[in-house]
Amino acid sequence: MPRKVQTLIEHLQRPLDLTHAAAILHWDQNVSMPDRGIRARALQLSTLSSLAHSLFASEKTGELLAEAEEEVRGMELEEDHAALVRVVRRLYDQETKLPSAFVEEESLATSQAYDIWRQAREKRDFSLFLPSLKQVVDLNRRKADYLGYEKHPYDALLQLYEPGITTAEVEELFAPLRKELPPLLREIRSRTAPPHPALGRHYPEEKQWEFSLALLDRMGFDFQQGRLDRSPHPFTTNFSVEDVRITTRLFSHNPLSSIFSTIHEAGHALYEMGIPLSLERTHLAQGATLGLHESQSRLWENQVGRSRAFWNYFYPIFRAFFPEQTRDVDPALFLREINRVEPGLIRVEADEVTYNLHIFVRFELEKELVTGALSPEEVPEAWNARYESMLGLRPAHDGEGCLQDVHWSHGSLGYFPTYTLGNLLAASLYAQAKARLPGLEESFAEGEFASLREWLREHVHRHGARYTARELMEREFGETLRAEPLLTYLREKYAARPDA
Ligand code: ZN
Repeated sequence: MPRKVQTLIEHLQRPLDLTHAAAILHWDQNVSMPDRGIRARALQLSTLSSLAHSLFASEKTGELLAEAEEEVRGMELEEDHAALVRVVRRLYDQETKLPSAFVEEESLATSQAYDIWRQAREKRDFSLFLPSLKQVVDLNRRKADYLGYEKHPYDALLQLYEPGITTAEVEELFAPLRKELPPLLREIRSRTAPPHPALGRHYPEEKQWEFSLALLDRMGFDFQQGRLDRSPHPFTTNFSVEDVRITTRLFSHNPLSSIFSTIHEAGHALYEMGIPLSLERTHLAQGATLGLHESQSRLWENQVGRSRAFWNYFYPIFRAFFPEQTRDVDPALFLREINRVEPGLIRVEADEVTYNLHIFVRFELEKELVTGALSPEEVPEAWNARYESMLGLRPAHDGEGCLQDVHWSHGSLGYFPTYTLGNLLAASLYAQAKARLPGLEESFAEGEFASLREWLREHVHRHGARYTARELMEREFGETLRAEPLLTYLREKYAARPDA
Protein backbone atom coordinates (compact mmCIF):
# COMPACT_ATOMS: atom_id res chain seq x y z
CA MET A 1 0.00 0.00 0.00
CA PRO A 2 1.61 3.28 -1.05
CA ARG A 3 2.00 5.12 2.22
CA LYS A 4 1.94 8.68 0.92
CA VAL A 5 -1.26 8.09 -1.03
CA GLN A 6 -2.80 6.57 2.07
CA THR A 7 -1.88 9.70 4.05
CA LEU A 8 -3.47 11.85 1.35
CA ILE A 9 -6.64 9.72 1.38
CA GLU A 10 -6.96 10.06 5.14
CA HIS A 11 -6.34 13.79 4.99
CA LEU A 12 -9.09 14.21 2.39
CA GLN A 13 -11.68 12.22 4.33
CA ARG A 14 -12.63 15.18 6.47
CA PRO A 15 -13.46 17.56 3.60
CA LEU A 16 -15.32 14.68 1.92
CA ASP A 17 -17.34 14.05 5.06
CA LEU A 18 -18.19 17.72 5.25
CA THR A 19 -19.23 17.75 1.62
CA HIS A 20 -21.50 14.76 2.17
CA ALA A 21 -22.96 16.36 5.30
CA ALA A 22 -23.73 19.45 3.21
CA ALA A 23 -25.37 17.19 0.62
CA ILE A 24 -27.68 15.82 3.32
CA LEU A 25 -28.72 19.37 4.19
CA HIS A 26 -29.33 20.08 0.50
CA TRP A 27 -31.41 16.94 0.15
CA ASP A 28 -33.45 17.85 3.22
CA GLN A 29 -33.94 21.38 1.92
CA ASN A 30 -35.44 20.04 -1.30
CA VAL A 31 -37.44 17.18 0.17
CA SER A 32 -38.74 18.04 3.61
CA MET A 33 -37.62 21.40 5.01
CA PRO A 34 -40.39 23.88 5.86
CA ASP A 35 -40.13 27.11 3.83
CA ARG A 36 -38.97 29.26 6.69
CA GLY A 37 -35.99 27.02 7.34
CA ILE A 38 -34.25 28.53 4.33
CA ARG A 39 -32.37 31.31 6.10
CA ALA A 40 -30.73 29.14 8.72
CA ARG A 41 -30.08 26.43 6.14
CA ALA A 42 -28.23 28.81 3.81
CA LEU A 43 -25.89 29.78 6.65
CA GLN A 44 -25.31 26.18 7.70
CA LEU A 45 -24.52 25.18 4.14
CA SER A 46 -22.19 28.09 3.71
CA THR A 47 -20.29 27.15 6.88
CA LEU A 48 -19.93 23.53 5.84
CA SER A 49 -18.82 24.31 2.33
CA SER A 50 -16.28 26.90 3.35
CA LEU A 51 -14.84 24.47 5.92
CA ALA A 52 -14.68 21.75 3.29
CA HIS A 53 -13.07 24.15 0.84
CA SER A 54 -10.43 25.38 3.28
CA LEU A 55 -9.47 21.81 4.23
CA PHE A 56 -9.40 20.59 0.64
CA ALA A 57 -7.66 23.59 -0.94
CA SER A 58 -5.09 23.88 1.87
CA GLU A 59 -1.32 23.98 1.52
CA LYS A 60 -1.25 20.74 3.46
CA THR A 61 -3.25 19.05 0.70
CA GLY A 62 -0.84 20.51 -1.85
CA GLU A 63 2.16 19.02 -0.02
CA LEU A 64 0.60 15.60 0.50
CA LEU A 65 -0.56 15.57 -3.11
CA ALA A 66 2.91 16.36 -4.44
CA GLU A 67 4.38 13.53 -2.34
CA ALA A 68 1.65 11.14 -3.45
CA GLU A 69 2.33 12.06 -7.08
CA GLU A 70 5.95 11.03 -6.63
CA GLU A 71 4.84 7.72 -5.22
CA VAL A 72 2.47 6.84 -8.08
CA ARG A 73 4.73 8.06 -10.87
CA GLY A 74 4.73 5.51 -13.69
CA MET A 75 1.68 3.64 -12.37
CA GLU A 76 -1.25 2.95 -14.70
CA LEU A 77 -4.71 4.35 -14.12
CA GLU A 78 -5.94 0.81 -13.42
CA GLU A 79 -4.25 1.28 -10.06
CA ASP A 80 -6.70 2.96 -7.71
CA HIS A 81 -3.98 5.11 -6.22
CA ALA A 82 -2.74 6.53 -9.49
CA ALA A 83 -6.29 7.27 -10.63
CA LEU A 84 -7.16 8.87 -7.32
CA VAL A 85 -4.12 11.12 -7.33
CA ARG A 86 -4.97 12.31 -10.82
CA VAL A 87 -8.54 13.19 -9.85
CA VAL A 88 -7.41 15.00 -6.72
CA ARG A 89 -4.83 16.96 -8.72
CA ARG A 90 -7.48 18.13 -11.16
CA LEU A 91 -9.84 19.22 -8.40
CA TYR A 92 -7.08 20.77 -6.34
CA ASP A 93 -5.86 22.86 -9.27
CA GLN A 94 -9.39 23.96 -10.03
CA GLU A 95 -9.96 25.09 -6.47
CA THR A 96 -6.61 26.73 -5.90
CA LYS A 97 -6.20 28.56 -9.18
CA LEU A 98 -9.08 30.81 -8.23
CA PRO A 99 -8.09 33.54 -5.74
CA SER A 100 -10.23 33.45 -2.60
CA ALA A 101 -11.46 37.00 -3.21
CA PHE A 102 -12.76 35.81 -6.57
CA VAL A 103 -14.49 32.79 -5.02
CA GLU A 104 -16.23 35.01 -2.48
CA GLU A 105 -17.31 37.48 -5.13
CA GLU A 106 -18.65 34.64 -7.23
CA SER A 107 -20.60 33.03 -4.42
CA LEU A 108 -22.15 36.34 -3.37
CA ALA A 109 -23.06 37.25 -6.95
CA THR A 110 -24.60 33.88 -7.75
CA SER A 111 -26.62 33.59 -4.55
CA GLN A 112 -28.26 36.91 -5.47
CA ALA A 113 -28.52 35.97 -9.13
CA TYR A 114 -30.60 32.91 -8.30
CA ASP A 115 -33.26 34.94 -6.45
CA ILE A 116 -33.31 37.59 -9.14
CA TRP A 117 -33.60 34.98 -11.87
CA ARG A 118 -36.62 33.41 -10.17
CA GLN A 119 -38.38 36.76 -10.05
CA ALA A 120 -37.39 37.65 -13.58
CA ARG A 121 -38.67 34.33 -14.91
CA GLU A 122 -41.95 34.69 -13.07
CA LYS A 123 -42.41 38.22 -14.41
CA ARG A 124 -41.08 37.18 -17.83
CA ASP A 125 -38.84 40.20 -17.68
CA PHE A 126 -35.28 39.74 -18.95
CA SER A 127 -34.29 43.29 -18.00
CA LEU A 128 -34.47 42.28 -14.32
CA PHE A 129 -31.98 39.48 -14.86
CA LEU A 130 -29.67 41.37 -17.25
CA PRO A 131 -27.36 42.89 -14.57
CA SER A 132 -26.92 39.43 -13.02
CA LEU A 133 -26.21 37.84 -16.37
CA LYS A 134 -23.59 40.49 -17.08
CA GLN A 135 -21.94 39.67 -13.77
CA VAL A 136 -22.08 35.93 -14.41
CA VAL A 137 -20.55 36.30 -17.87
CA ASP A 138 -17.84 38.57 -16.53
CA LEU A 139 -17.08 36.14 -13.69
CA ASN A 140 -16.87 33.26 -16.12
CA ARG A 141 -14.52 35.10 -18.45
CA ARG A 142 -12.24 35.86 -15.53
CA LYS A 143 -12.59 32.32 -14.25
CA ALA A 144 -11.47 30.97 -17.62
CA ASP A 145 -8.43 33.22 -17.43
CA TYR A 146 -7.55 32.01 -13.94
CA LEU A 147 -8.02 28.37 -14.86
CA GLY A 148 -6.14 28.71 -18.13
CA TYR A 149 -6.83 27.31 -21.60
CA GLU A 150 -5.04 26.75 -24.84
CA LYS A 151 -7.46 27.71 -27.57
CA HIS A 152 -10.87 28.82 -26.41
CA PRO A 153 -11.86 30.32 -23.05
CA TYR A 154 -14.88 28.00 -23.12
CA ASP A 155 -12.43 25.07 -22.86
CA ALA A 156 -11.57 26.07 -19.31
CA LEU A 157 -15.24 26.15 -18.28
CA LEU A 158 -16.11 22.90 -20.02
CA GLN A 159 -13.37 21.14 -18.04
CA LEU A 160 -15.23 21.88 -14.83
CA TYR A 161 -18.08 19.62 -15.92
CA GLU A 162 -16.64 17.36 -18.57
CA PRO A 163 -12.91 16.86 -18.05
CA GLY A 164 -10.94 15.65 -21.03
CA ILE A 165 -12.77 17.30 -23.91
CA THR A 166 -12.33 20.62 -25.70
CA THR A 167 -14.79 23.02 -27.27
CA ALA A 168 -13.55 22.17 -30.76
CA GLU A 169 -14.02 18.46 -30.09
CA VAL A 170 -17.56 19.05 -28.84
CA GLU A 171 -18.33 21.08 -31.97
CA GLU A 172 -17.05 18.27 -34.15
CA LEU A 173 -19.10 15.69 -32.23
CA PHE A 174 -22.26 17.75 -32.48
CA ALA A 175 -21.86 18.59 -36.19
CA PRO A 176 -23.50 15.43 -37.62
CA LEU A 177 -26.45 15.86 -35.26
CA ARG A 178 -26.89 19.50 -36.22
CA LYS A 179 -27.00 18.43 -39.82
CA GLU A 180 -29.15 15.28 -39.57
CA LEU A 181 -31.65 15.98 -36.81
CA PRO A 182 -33.65 18.80 -38.45
CA PRO A 183 -34.53 16.76 -41.57
CA LEU A 184 -35.34 13.72 -39.41
CA LEU A 185 -37.58 15.90 -37.29
CA ARG A 186 -39.43 17.23 -40.34
CA GLU A 187 -39.90 13.70 -41.59
CA ILE A 188 -41.33 12.49 -38.27
CA ARG A 189 -43.59 15.50 -37.86
CA SER A 190 -45.14 15.00 -41.27
CA ARG A 191 -46.92 11.88 -39.95
CA THR A 192 -47.52 12.57 -36.26
CA ALA A 193 -51.08 12.14 -35.03
CA PRO A 194 -52.55 14.56 -32.48
CA PRO A 195 -52.11 13.52 -28.82
CA HIS A 196 -54.63 11.13 -27.29
CA PRO A 197 -56.46 12.60 -24.27
CA ALA A 198 -56.03 9.46 -22.13
CA LEU A 199 -52.71 10.51 -20.65
CA GLY A 200 -54.15 13.77 -19.42
CA ARG A 201 -56.80 12.05 -17.30
CA HIS A 202 -56.70 11.97 -13.53
CA TYR A 203 -54.08 9.51 -12.22
CA PRO A 204 -54.13 9.51 -8.41
CA GLU A 205 -50.75 10.49 -7.03
CA GLU A 206 -50.60 7.61 -4.50
CA LYS A 207 -51.01 5.15 -7.35
CA GLN A 208 -48.31 6.85 -9.39
CA TRP A 209 -46.05 6.63 -6.37
CA GLU A 210 -46.69 2.89 -6.06
CA PHE A 211 -46.02 2.41 -9.75
CA SER A 212 -42.71 4.29 -9.38
CA LEU A 213 -41.73 1.90 -6.60
CA ALA A 214 -42.61 -1.04 -8.84
CA LEU A 215 -40.38 0.37 -11.60
CA LEU A 216 -37.46 0.84 -9.21
CA ASP A 217 -37.87 -2.63 -7.80
CA ARG A 218 -37.58 -4.29 -11.21
CA MET A 219 -34.70 -2.08 -12.29
CA GLY A 220 -32.76 -3.34 -9.30
CA PHE A 221 -32.71 -0.15 -7.26
CA ASP A 222 -31.64 -1.43 -3.85
CA PHE A 223 -33.80 0.03 -1.10
CA GLN A 224 -31.23 -1.12 1.46
CA GLN A 225 -28.88 1.48 0.03
CA GLY A 226 -31.25 4.07 -1.35
CA ARG A 227 -34.63 5.68 -1.09
CA LEU A 228 -37.20 7.51 -3.17
CA ASP A 229 -38.80 10.79 -2.12
CA ARG A 230 -40.84 13.47 -3.74
CA SER A 231 -39.59 16.95 -4.75
CA PRO A 232 -40.59 19.68 -7.24
CA HIS A 233 -37.45 19.10 -9.33
CA PRO A 234 -36.31 15.49 -9.47
CA PHE A 235 -32.69 14.88 -8.56
CA THR A 236 -30.19 12.28 -7.33
CA THR A 237 -27.73 12.77 -4.51
CA ASN A 238 -25.66 10.48 -2.36
CA PHE A 239 -23.84 10.58 0.92
CA SER A 240 -22.08 7.27 0.46
CA VAL A 241 -22.19 4.55 -2.19
CA GLU A 242 -24.46 2.83 0.35
CA ASP A 243 -26.82 5.76 0.74
CA VAL A 244 -28.15 7.06 -2.56
CA ARG A 245 -31.25 9.25 -2.67
CA ILE A 246 -33.49 9.98 -5.61
CA THR A 247 -36.63 12.03 -5.97
CA THR A 248 -39.49 12.08 -8.41
CA ARG A 249 -42.38 14.45 -9.01
CA LEU A 250 -46.05 13.65 -9.17
CA PHE A 251 -48.62 15.50 -11.26
CA SER A 252 -52.12 14.10 -11.01
CA HIS A 253 -52.84 14.74 -14.70
CA ASN A 254 -49.51 13.69 -16.16
CA PRO A 255 -48.43 10.18 -15.17
CA LEU A 256 -45.58 10.19 -17.69
CA SER A 257 -43.76 12.84 -15.70
CA SER A 258 -43.31 10.63 -12.63
CA ILE A 259 -42.57 7.53 -14.70
CA PHE A 260 -39.74 9.05 -16.69
CA SER A 261 -38.37 11.14 -13.82
CA THR A 262 -38.18 8.02 -11.68
CA ILE A 263 -36.49 5.95 -14.37
CA HIS A 264 -34.07 8.79 -15.18
CA GLU A 265 -33.01 9.34 -11.60
CA ALA A 266 -32.78 5.59 -11.00
CA GLY A 267 -30.24 5.46 -13.84
CA HIS A 268 -28.13 8.02 -12.00
CA ALA A 269 -28.61 6.11 -8.74
CA LEU A 270 -27.57 2.73 -10.14
CA TYR A 271 -24.32 4.36 -11.23
CA GLU A 272 -23.55 5.59 -7.72
CA MET A 273 -24.70 2.30 -6.15
CA GLY A 274 -22.48 0.37 -8.52
CA ILE A 275 -19.27 2.02 -7.38
CA PRO A 276 -17.22 -0.49 -5.35
CA LEU A 277 -17.22 -0.12 -1.60
CA SER A 278 -13.41 -0.23 -1.72
CA LEU A 279 -13.45 3.29 -3.19
CA GLU A 280 -15.79 4.64 -0.51
CA ARG A 281 -14.72 7.88 1.18
CA THR A 282 -12.27 8.75 -1.62
CA HIS A 283 -12.62 11.08 -4.58
CA LEU A 284 -12.94 8.07 -6.89
CA ALA A 285 -16.31 7.18 -5.33
CA GLN A 286 -18.31 9.36 -7.69
CA GLY A 287 -19.37 9.50 -11.31
CA ALA A 288 -16.59 10.24 -13.77
CA THR A 289 -18.02 13.21 -15.67
CA LEU A 290 -21.43 14.85 -15.98
CA GLY A 291 -21.77 13.49 -19.50
CA LEU A 292 -21.14 9.94 -18.34
CA HIS A 293 -23.54 10.38 -15.44
CA GLU A 294 -26.21 11.64 -17.79
CA SER A 295 -25.55 8.72 -20.12
CA GLN A 296 -26.68 6.36 -17.37
CA SER A 297 -29.91 8.20 -16.71
CA ARG A 298 -30.69 8.68 -20.40
CA LEU A 299 -29.92 5.10 -21.32
CA TRP A 300 -32.49 3.83 -18.80
CA GLU A 301 -34.97 6.59 -19.55
CA ASN A 302 -34.85 6.49 -23.36
CA GLN A 303 -33.16 3.43 -24.83
CA VAL A 304 -34.76 1.17 -22.21
CA GLY A 305 -37.70 3.04 -20.71
CA ARG A 306 -39.25 4.15 -24.00
CA SER A 307 -38.79 0.79 -25.72
CA ARG A 308 -41.45 -1.62 -26.79
CA ALA A 309 -39.81 -4.46 -24.84
CA PHE A 310 -39.84 -2.52 -21.58
CA TRP A 311 -43.55 -1.81 -21.89
CA ASN A 312 -44.35 -5.33 -23.00
CA TYR A 313 -43.60 -6.10 -19.40
CA PHE A 314 -44.72 -2.93 -17.65
CA TYR A 315 -47.82 -1.87 -19.54
CA PRO A 316 -50.06 -4.63 -18.14
CA ILE A 317 -48.88 -3.60 -14.66
CA PHE A 318 -49.51 0.09 -15.39
CA ARG A 319 -52.96 -0.81 -16.67
CA ALA A 320 -53.71 -2.79 -13.53
CA PHE A 321 -52.90 0.34 -11.50
CA PHE A 322 -55.05 2.56 -13.75
CA PRO A 323 -57.70 0.40 -15.42
CA GLU A 324 -60.27 3.16 -15.83
CA GLN A 325 -57.86 5.80 -17.17
CA THR A 326 -56.35 3.40 -19.73
CA ARG A 327 -59.58 1.67 -20.80
CA ASP A 328 -59.22 2.83 -24.41
CA VAL A 329 -55.41 2.83 -24.62
CA ASP A 330 -53.93 -0.26 -26.20
CA PRO A 331 -50.18 -0.96 -25.85
CA ALA A 332 -49.37 0.39 -29.33
CA LEU A 333 -51.12 3.66 -28.57
CA PHE A 334 -49.37 3.99 -25.24
CA LEU A 335 -46.00 3.38 -26.88
CA ARG A 336 -46.77 6.01 -29.49
CA GLU A 337 -47.73 8.53 -26.82
CA ILE A 338 -44.55 8.06 -24.78
CA ASN A 339 -42.48 8.48 -27.93
CA ARG A 340 -44.29 11.52 -29.24
CA VAL A 341 -41.91 13.88 -31.05
CA GLU A 342 -42.90 17.50 -31.01
CA PRO A 343 -40.76 20.64 -31.20
CA GLY A 344 -41.36 22.77 -28.13
CA LEU A 345 -39.86 25.78 -26.42
CA ILE A 346 -38.95 24.15 -23.12
CA ARG A 347 -35.79 22.05 -22.89
CA VAL A 348 -36.81 19.91 -19.92
CA GLU A 349 -40.01 18.85 -21.68
CA ALA A 350 -38.29 17.93 -24.94
CA ASP A 351 -38.42 14.48 -26.52
CA GLU A 352 -35.30 12.55 -27.43
CA VAL A 353 -35.18 13.84 -31.03
CA THR A 354 -35.55 17.56 -30.35
CA TYR A 355 -33.72 17.66 -27.00
CA ASN A 356 -30.30 18.15 -28.52
CA LEU A 357 -31.45 21.10 -30.62
CA HIS A 358 -32.18 22.94 -27.37
CA ILE A 359 -28.63 22.23 -26.27
CA PHE A 360 -27.10 23.50 -29.50
CA VAL A 361 -28.78 26.89 -29.04
CA ARG A 362 -27.34 27.22 -25.53
CA PHE A 363 -23.90 25.94 -26.49
CA GLU A 364 -23.58 28.51 -29.28
CA LEU A 365 -24.80 31.41 -27.18
CA GLU A 366 -22.54 30.53 -24.26
CA LYS A 367 -19.44 30.34 -26.44
CA GLU A 368 -20.25 33.73 -27.91
CA LEU A 369 -20.91 35.24 -24.49
CA VAL A 370 -17.56 34.02 -23.20
CA THR A 371 -15.61 35.44 -26.12
CA GLY A 372 -17.63 38.65 -26.13
CA ALA A 373 -18.96 38.05 -29.64
CA LEU A 374 -22.44 38.30 -28.10
CA SER A 375 -23.29 40.79 -25.38
CA PRO A 376 -25.69 39.84 -22.56
CA GLU A 377 -28.15 42.51 -23.82
CA GLU A 378 -28.44 40.65 -27.12
CA VAL A 379 -29.31 37.29 -25.55
CA PRO A 380 -33.13 37.37 -25.86
CA GLU A 381 -33.10 38.27 -29.53
CA ALA A 382 -30.31 35.81 -30.32
CA TRP A 383 -32.12 33.10 -28.38
CA ASN A 384 -35.41 33.65 -30.15
CA ALA A 385 -33.83 33.83 -33.59
CA ARG A 386 -32.00 30.54 -33.05
CA TYR A 387 -35.10 28.79 -31.75
CA GLU A 388 -36.85 29.90 -34.84
CA SER A 389 -34.19 28.54 -37.14
CA MET A 390 -33.42 25.37 -35.14
CA LEU A 391 -36.88 24.35 -33.93
CA GLY A 392 -39.21 26.47 -36.03
CA LEU A 393 -40.72 28.14 -32.98
CA ARG A 394 -40.34 31.56 -31.49
CA PRO A 395 -40.89 32.15 -27.75
CA ALA A 396 -43.72 34.57 -27.00
CA HIS A 397 -41.85 35.86 -23.95
CA ASP A 398 -38.51 35.34 -22.21
CA GLY A 399 -40.03 33.14 -19.50
CA GLU A 400 -40.36 30.42 -22.14
CA GLY A 401 -37.20 31.65 -23.83
CA CYS A 402 -33.84 32.60 -22.38
CA LEU A 403 -35.03 32.73 -18.77
CA GLN A 404 -36.19 29.11 -18.60
CA ASP A 405 -33.03 27.44 -17.24
CA VAL A 406 -31.51 27.80 -13.80
CA HIS A 407 -27.87 27.22 -14.88
CA TRP A 408 -26.75 30.79 -15.60
CA SER A 409 -28.23 32.01 -12.34
CA HIS A 410 -26.00 29.45 -10.60
CA GLY A 411 -23.05 31.02 -12.38
CA SER A 412 -22.59 27.98 -14.64
CA LEU A 413 -21.47 28.41 -18.22
CA GLY A 414 -20.17 25.28 -19.92
CA TYR A 415 -22.62 22.83 -18.38
CA PHE A 416 -25.19 22.41 -21.16
CA PRO A 417 -23.08 20.41 -23.66
CA THR A 418 -22.83 17.59 -21.10
CA TYR A 419 -26.51 16.77 -21.68
CA THR A 420 -25.95 16.01 -25.33
CA LEU A 421 -22.70 14.22 -24.53
CA GLY A 422 -24.81 12.09 -22.21
CA ASN A 423 -27.22 11.29 -25.04
CA LEU A 424 -24.35 10.35 -27.35
CA LEU A 425 -22.76 8.14 -24.74
CA ALA A 426 -26.06 6.49 -23.84
CA ALA A 427 -26.61 5.48 -27.47
CA SER A 428 -23.02 4.23 -27.84
CA LEU A 429 -23.19 2.22 -24.64
CA TYR A 430 -26.57 0.76 -25.51
CA ALA A 431 -25.36 -0.28 -28.95
CA GLN A 432 -22.42 -2.04 -27.28
CA ALA A 433 -24.73 -3.72 -24.76
CA LYS A 434 -27.05 -5.01 -27.47
CA ALA A 435 -24.13 -6.35 -29.49
CA ARG A 436 -22.62 -8.11 -26.49
CA LEU A 437 -25.71 -9.32 -24.64
CA PRO A 438 -27.80 -11.46 -26.99
CA GLY A 439 -31.49 -11.54 -26.13
CA LEU A 440 -31.25 -8.34 -24.12
CA GLU A 441 -34.57 -6.86 -25.19
CA GLU A 442 -36.32 -10.22 -24.96
CA SER A 443 -35.28 -10.28 -21.31
CA PHE A 444 -36.75 -6.78 -20.76
CA ALA A 445 -40.07 -8.09 -22.01
CA GLU A 446 -39.93 -10.59 -19.15
CA GLY A 447 -39.17 -7.90 -16.59
CA GLU A 448 -35.53 -8.91 -16.38
CA PHE A 449 -33.08 -6.00 -16.26
CA ALA A 450 -30.26 -7.52 -14.25
CA SER A 451 -28.12 -8.41 -17.26
CA LEU A 452 -28.02 -4.79 -18.47
CA ARG A 453 -27.54 -3.42 -14.98
CA GLU A 454 -24.67 -5.79 -14.21
CA TRP A 455 -23.09 -5.13 -17.60
CA LEU A 456 -23.14 -1.38 -16.93
CA ARG A 457 -21.72 -2.00 -13.50
CA GLU A 458 -18.88 -4.02 -14.98
CA HIS A 459 -18.02 -1.58 -17.77
CA VAL A 460 -18.94 1.81 -16.31
CA HIS A 461 -19.98 1.94 -12.66
CA ARG A 462 -17.16 0.02 -11.06
CA HIS A 463 -14.59 2.51 -12.33
CA GLY A 464 -16.06 5.43 -10.40
CA ALA A 465 -14.18 8.59 -11.38
CA ARG A 466 -11.15 6.68 -12.64
CA TYR A 467 -11.45 7.50 -16.35
CA THR A 468 -12.83 10.37 -18.39
CA ALA A 469 -15.73 9.50 -20.68
CA ARG A 470 -13.41 9.26 -23.66
CA GLU A 471 -10.92 7.05 -21.82
CA LEU A 472 -13.66 4.76 -20.62
CA MET A 473 -15.11 4.28 -24.11
CA GLU A 474 -11.66 3.59 -25.52
CA ARG A 475 -10.52 1.21 -22.82
CA GLU A 476 -13.73 -0.76 -22.43
CA PHE A 477 -14.88 -0.89 -26.04
CA GLY A 478 -12.13 0.44 -28.30
CA GLU A 479 -14.70 3.10 -29.22
CA THR A 480 -14.25 6.83 -29.72
CA LEU A 481 -16.77 9.48 -28.76
CA ARG A 482 -19.06 9.80 -31.74
CA ALA A 483 -22.54 10.82 -32.79
CA GLU A 484 -23.33 7.98 -35.22
CA PRO A 485 -24.77 5.49 -32.68
CA LEU A 486 -27.26 8.13 -31.53
CA LEU A 487 -28.23 8.99 -35.09
CA THR A 488 -28.62 5.32 -35.98
CA TYR A 489 -30.74 4.71 -32.89
CA LEU A 490 -33.02 7.65 -33.64
CA ARG A 491 -33.31 6.78 -37.32
CA GLU A 492 -34.12 3.15 -36.64
CA LYS A 493 -36.66 4.06 -34.03
CA TYR A 494 -38.38 6.96 -35.76
CA ALA A 495 -37.94 6.44 -39.48
CA ALA A 496 -41.28 5.78 -41.16
CA ARG A 497 -43.04 2.75 -39.71
CA PRO A 498 -46.44 1.51 -40.78
CA ASP A 499 -47.76 1.53 -37.18
CA ALA A 500 -46.23 4.85 -36.16
ZN1 ZN B 1 -29.93 13.63 -15.18
